[in-house]
Formats: sequence, C-alpha cells, structure tokens
Amino acid sequence: MLWSLVKIVFFVVLVAALAFGGMFLIDSEGSMDIAFMGFKISLSPIKVVIAVVVLLVAAWLLLKLVGLCVALMKFLLGDETALSRYFDRNRERKGFDAMAEGMMALASGEGRVAMAKASKAEKYLRKPELTNLLTAQAAEMTGDKRKAQEVYRRLVADDRTRFVGVQGMMKHKLEEGDKDTALKLAEKAFALKPKHVEMQDTLLQLQAEKKDWSAARSTLSAKFKHGAIPRDVHKRRDAVLALSEAKGVFETGATVEAQEAAIEANKKSPDLIPAAVMAADEYTRQGKDRQATRILKKAWDVQPHPDLAAAFARIAPDETPNARIKRFAGLVRAKPGHPETKMLMAELQIAAEDFPAARRTLGDLVENSPTARSMTLMAAIERGEGSADAVVRGWLTRALTAPRGPQWMCDKCQTVHVSWEPICASCSAFDTLSWRTPAQSEVSMPAGTEMLPMIVGSDTEVGAQHEQDTDFIEDAIIDEENDKSPTE
Ligand SMILES: [Zn+2]
Repeated sequence: MLWSLVKIVFFVVLVAALAFGGMFLIDSEGSMDIAFMGFKISLSPIKVVIAVVVLLVAAWLLLKLVGLCVALMKFLLGDETALSRYFDRNRERKGFDAMAEGMMALASGEGRVAMAKASKAEKYLRKPELTNLLTAQAAEMTGDKRKAQEVYRRLVADDRTRFVGVQGMMKHKLEEGDKDTALKLAEKAFALKPKHVEMQDTLLQLQAEKKDWSAARSTLSAKFKHGAIPRDVHKRRDAVLALSEAKGVFETGATVEAQEAAIEANKKSPDLIPAAVMAADEYTRQGKDRQATRILKKAWDVQPHPDLAAAFARIAPDETPNARIKRFAGLVRAKPGHPETKMLMAELQIAAEDFPAARRTLGDLVENSPTARSMTLMAAIERGEGSADAVVRGWLTRALTAPRGPQWMCDKCQTVHVSWEPICASCSAFDTLSWRTPAQSEVSMPAGTEMLPMIVGSDTEVGAQHEQDTDFIEDAIIDEENDKSPTE
C-alpha cells in the first residue's frame, strides 16, 4: 500500500522533471555547431538531445546486425543451427528455465512435474542429449519403464549419450532378471568407458555369476590397470578367479590345467586358504608330498584353518593316530597358542585315545573362548575318561548354546556358508566370503536356555541322579549367563 503510493509519487515527480527539462531546453538560448568534412550543422539544445537518443538506438541496431551477420557466417560455414539459435535466444532462455525447473522437480521427487518440464524444455531447446536425460530420470522416478526404455534407446543413438543409454538399459535388464542381456550390455558399456568403476564392478559380478572366469580375470586386470583397486586386493581377487577357473576345469576333468591354475592361485596369494587347499590336493594327487606339506604349512602360518588341516591329513590318509600327531606337530609349530591349533591337536589326541593329553592341550580354551567345537571336544574327553553320562551331556548341552566360532561368512549379507565359494550363495557378491566369528547378535540362538533342563529331564532312566543332572545343567547355564553378561 505504502509502496504503491511511493511509486505513484515517484512517477509524478519524474514526469514533472521531464516536462520541466523539456521546457528548459526549448526555452534555452544558443546552439551547438558541428563541423564535419566541410559541412556545418547548427543544432538547438532540444535537437542535440534527440540526436543523442537517435545515435544510441542506431548503435544498438548496429550491434544486433553484427550478431546476425556472425550467426549468418557460422551458418554458411556449416553450423546449421547458428541462425535458428540466433533467433531462438529467447526460446533458449525459456528452455533452460524449464530445464532448471525440471531438475529441481527431480531433486524434490516430483517425477511427473519433471517429465512435463522436460518435454517443455525439449520443445524450446531441441537438445535431446540434455532433455532426454531428464526425461529418462523422470520416467524412472514415476515408474514408467516403457517410457524410460524408449528414451534410453534414443540416448544410445547419440555418440555423446550412448554410455548413459546402455547403462540405463542394462539396469532395467538386471531388474527384470535378464542377466544374459545385461551382461552383453555391460560389456558394451565397459568397451565405451573402461574406466567407469561401477560398470567394472557390475561386469565383473555378472561374469563371475555366469562363471566366465577368464573374462572376469581380464575385467579385473583392466580394473587394476585403471587404478580402481589396490595391488594386494587385485592379487587376491585374481587368485580367487584363477582358483574358480581351476575348479571349473577340475570338474570337467582336465587336470593338468587345473593343477597349474590352482598352483598359480596359491603363488599369487599364499594366505588364501581355498587356493592352498586346492594346490596341496593337486600335489598330493601327484605324490609330491613335500610340496603339499610346504604349501599347507605356509598357509597355516598365516591363518590356521580346519580346511588346511583336512588337506594336511589327506597327504597321508592311512597313518596311525600316533604317527599323525607327530606329523601334525610340524604343521602347527609356528602357531602353538592359536585356538585352531589347540582344538586340532586335541582332536588328534582324542583319536589316539590319549584323553589326559587332549585335556591338557585344550587347557583353558573352554573358559576363555568357548565355542561349540571346544565344548564338544570336552564332552568327548569326558566320555573317553569314563565320566558319568550326566557330565558328558552337560558339555553337549552347553555346546548347543555356545558361539559357533569362526565360519565362512559373507561380508555383505552375513550369510554363513559351509564351504568357501567365490560367490555368495545368498547375495551373489563376488569375493566377499571371509573366515571370521559372527557377532553374537548374528547367530540365531535356540528358543531359550530355559528349555534345556526339560530336554535333559526327558531322560527319566537316570532316576536318583536326575536331580543332580539338572542342577549341573542349571549351574552350567548360570555360568554361561555370567560369562555373557559383561558383553551385554
Ligand atoms: Zn552375501
């Protein structure tokens, strides 16, 4: 209200000032003389003002004309859109405004508005490489897959946007579960942009899923060459692939290549347990026991693991339990205090029926880091030493609720696998299985420890000893709960 009043007052003052100025110019005496190439012009003050205005307009027109001439020259030199661009500058501004509004709508999640703005921008700008991108994303947002597909196809046609188009189509195929087509598209996209990290990963995973190991290895080496992964990760992953390649070859029976690939995998990554196991098995098969022993020992020094022990046992399957203990002593020498070493040696001593030695070997393992496996071993020791059934059962009951110890677990989805695989069975991720202990919350515990006395109680034959039994179990459970409580 006040503002419009101010504007009116300002306008009235301006008109008055102009009228007054005009009157002053008309009334003023004298003139301006201009001499130019022999001509002499005499101008009154009001004419001078008019002449200045005319000159300014002429200069502006001249500049516009120069712009038009430049556009015309560009057009003649081959830039086909130069002329229309010149005339469409206004349209262009509107087009970019629509484009900006469309991107804003996209960012705020309004897919339909974005789509409308995109088609408006397309009308004004006629730059499909820009507006198609907006349309495609808007179509994705509104879930209009057919529209998105159609736009991607248009993007593929243009050199500058081909990669984006192929990528979009590939994602659609992946969503549909058409992995063969997705793989072909990923290969195409990778050929267009070998440095694109996300595409490298997608391609690698698709190739690994299809078990095309040699193609996956070449993708991996391209990834390494473009600096997308550090050297040690490359080495490890390549070993995984080489091993998988070998496994495939091994299954089809071409053992010479299998052996070479397995051994190559092991050389590249001596701490990779499956590679060591496979290489050792190959050596064992060939009767090269010394090489097999060396490989397994080297791997054990890095990471003691039951798979390594199993492969080590396969070197001499028919030896006596005592001979086996002697031979395994060489394997575990470097890591005497490791839980895996303790449990392995205890197992061997139980097999040799030397129960007191097995108990000594296990030592305080059941107290310090109790696992289902160490508890089960304790049960076997008690059984071997002739303890009461109740005691044996007590250990087995504790084993039920004890942590499972380290297992092959996917780093991505935490699924536990019985044996090592290059690809997670649950989420299909490549090289994500690692040997580790699941966090307590990740283990599904039995329905509740309070149920266990009932399991034990169902054995009615124990009779008089029954009460003692349940007491023992209850003690064990209370102990366990005490063990657990600090972590909670
Ligand atoms: Zn997984």
